[in-house]
Amino acid sequence: MSDVQNLFDLTGKVAIVTGGASGLGKYYSQALLDAGADVFVVSRSKKGWQGLQDFAAQRGRKVAFFTQDLTADGAANRVIREFKQTFPTLDILINNAGVQIRNDLVAYKDDDWQKVIDVNLNALYYLSHEAAKVMIEQKSGKIINIGSMQSFRAGKFIYPYAASKHGVIGLTKAYADALAPYGIQVNSLAPGYIDTDMTKALQEDDVRNTEILNHIPAGHWAKPSELVGTIVYLSSAASNYVTGATIPVDGGYLLR
Ligand code: NAP
Repeated sequence: MSDVQNLFDLTGKVAIVTGGASGLGKYYSQALLDAGADVFVVSRSKKGWQGLQDFAAQRGRKVAFFTQDLTADGAANRVIREFKQTFPTLDILINNAGVQIRNDLVAYKDDDWQKVIDVNLNALYYLSHEAAKVMIEQKSGKIINIGSMQSFRAGKFIYPYAASKHGVIGLTKAYADALAPYGIQVNSLAPGYIDTDMTKALQEDDVRNTEILNHIPAGHWAKPSELVGTIVYLSSAASNYVTGATIPVDGGYLLR
């Protein structure tokens, strides 16, 4: 392997990926496995888990699953405790679990505001906090938070989603600053418009779909596979001098 290939190699590394067996998280887990890492997945249901196990087995990699609602009291503590029983080090945390609830402004329910903030921001904070304690002792680690185009722009109908994703960038910067002296990098990936279940309603809305496509210089919704290079980069030694950054992977959406 060349020196440059070595920079991206994750052999011997271990990652926690929240929501890592389904949706976009599955692609992140698969990319990390492909690059040589072992993966510990946390989510409420085992959707997609069998497929991820098969993928790991074909590559001789280890995966583990922990069923946990990340918004439950004490969840972050339990995740890290369980993780440590299986794996010796925590090299990478990918805070991917997220939810979106759409509604008109006046009709927006307090409960829905709370649900979205709890998953997208509070759970991300609590898990990062517990993971940081482990990484500070190791004096190494990578935390990757998943933002969104709504980390930068207004999110009509998805008010708590926009607030939480803006918050993700703020927390990324604050944690990056505090953890850099320990050799820990904290960055965010902000996906653009990706063809997934979460965006199905939007893609099926002809008016919005056309608006969105007209706004993307690259001219198409991204495939999930178009995000994974950035995940591997931010997880690997190739990004050791990059911290506090949010990388949009958006086909140029933010340029317009
Ligand atoms: P998805 O298909 O709905 O997947 C969300 C994942 O999060 C699932 O694995 C889900 O598993 C897990 N999750 C949700 N609530 C949880 C909870 N309380 N505790 C533990 N796990 C929980 O969504 P996605 O499209 O893959 O989105 C993943 C991330 O990318 C989110 O942060 C989202 O905001 C962001 N993003 C997506 C897009 C897009 O176009 N799809 C664009 C920009 C950003 P369980 O339901 O089993 O718990």
